[in-house]
Amino acid sequence: MGIPVGSAEFLYKALDKIIEDLTSQFDKLKDLRDSQTQLLFVRQCMDATITHLCRGLLPSQSAVLTQAYSTLQRRALCSIAGVQSITDLQFDLARCPIDKGGLGLLNADTVAHGAFVASTLATLPHIYTTLPEAKSELTAFLATGTQPTSITLREFISSAAILAEADKTITLQALLELPASKHKHLQRRLNKKFKDNHVSSTITKIQNHPDHQFWRKVQSGATAEAGAWLEAVPDGEGMDMPNTNFSNAVRNRLHIPHPYILAGMTCNCSSLQQVDQHGIHLQMCRHENKWLICHEHVVADIRSMAQAANLTAQPNNVRVSPDPRVNKRGDLNIIESGHKNIVIDVQITNTCSDPNLERRPGAAAKQSETRKNTKYASSVKQLGAEFYAFSVEVQGRYGEQALKLFNYLAQQLSSATSTRAHVARKYWARRIACTIQNKVAEAQRFKADRIRTTEFSIAFDSKTHMCQQIETHANGRVGDSNTTYWD
Ligand SMILES: [Zn+2]
Repeated sequence: MGIPVGSAEFLYKALDKIIEDLTSQFDKLKDLRDSQTQLLFVRQCMDATITHLCRGLLPSQSAVLTQAYSTLQRRALCSIAGVQSITDLQFDLARCPIDKGGLGLLNADTVAHGAFVASTLATLPHIYTTLPEAKSELTAFLATGTQPTSITLREFISSAAILAEADKTITLQALLELPASKHKHLQRRLNKKFKDNHVSSTITKIQNHPDHQFWRKVQSGATAEAGAWLEAVPDGEGMDMPNTNFSNAVRNRLHIPHPYILAGMTCNCSSLQQVDQHGIHLQMCRHENKWLICHEHVVADIRSMAQAANLTAQPNNVRVSPDPRVNKRGDLNIIESGHKNIVIDVQITNTCSDPNLERRPGAAAKQSETRKNTKYASSVKQLGAEFYAFSVEVQGRYGEQALKLFNYLAQQLSSATSTRAHVARKYWARRIACTIQNKVAEAQRFKADRIRTTEFSIAFDSKTHMCQQIETHANGRVGDSNTTYWD
């Protein structure tokens, strides 16, 4: 989309046309019917378009545009999440960076001034050529505060003042004295404070939110590894997230209630627990759940990663103690010549499980890591190996040891294949994150279906009870045994 230049009337017509085009692009996005691709498209393409437009429009003009854009973006997000509406706070969170717990979407409200000031500064030499009085007018403004005649310069001054309000280190004088070589990343630098303010005010609101699980959940997803699934591009090899899973994962991340969990739904586990609409109980319930599957898939991913690094990785039956009476086995044994064997035990842990858990990011992963180490670290050492607890929270945050092991494997992979370590890290973080979010989503939905089936069969049973004796399905085993534990 080109940037319109001309009379006010022409400009407003042109803006209308831009908004119309954006609307039809967002409409076309819906036709993709794949929420994983849709979100990638909004973040990578649409967000860049709006930034580009803001560079060439006066902030007084682009305000209409950024507002319209935010509305379209929010509507697209609802469609991606599979819901009718989201709250302002959820939308604000979506517009926070991925490593802060958001979806990394652009906050259009924060780009206009920085984009305009940066592009005006870059074109100042040309402005001085075509408008020779511009230079003296800016100098006069700095000396006496007299406003220039040109509207572009007046808006440039007012935008610079707005930027200075957010970031005290920015002054008009300093901007004008900036050498051209510093113009390159100026826009990002100018907007940084705006963005930071947006993030910190959003996180503070979530921290003070009456629903305490909200903050816990956001923190549990607020690392680069945790949110890596959001950057995964479907490749047919572990990076794909089917539509329902992806929408489910977006809802979990933004703490949006799941439409398939009806209010007042009671679980079919013995606790007769009310099922919260955020799916936290569905994630944690031990009755008829699919947790073991999530665990196994994460183990498989770590194994593949080790194998990609040319290491021998043996699953199953990994001894964690020299004592033959100890039945417990680790998940994976990694063998590298010239190095101690590494015994790995994977746990998927939930940050919302224990209301008394310390209110600190990563507390759940830390707790399970400590517990595992107390149990196994010394006996594994007696076997001459090294123990690593790979604790990862449901929203994807790694524990310290998990991160250390992950980085170690990425490093090994890098030296074995001459792939750069950060590329290896990105790739495997995405694979593991997709696995976790896919399996969490599947487990949640599976469990919800089981409850519905049970409800149905109980209703059915009570109706037909007088005519025939029917075994209820309430304790039916489906897939896994009901002793699937968190670890
Ligand atoms: Zn339950």
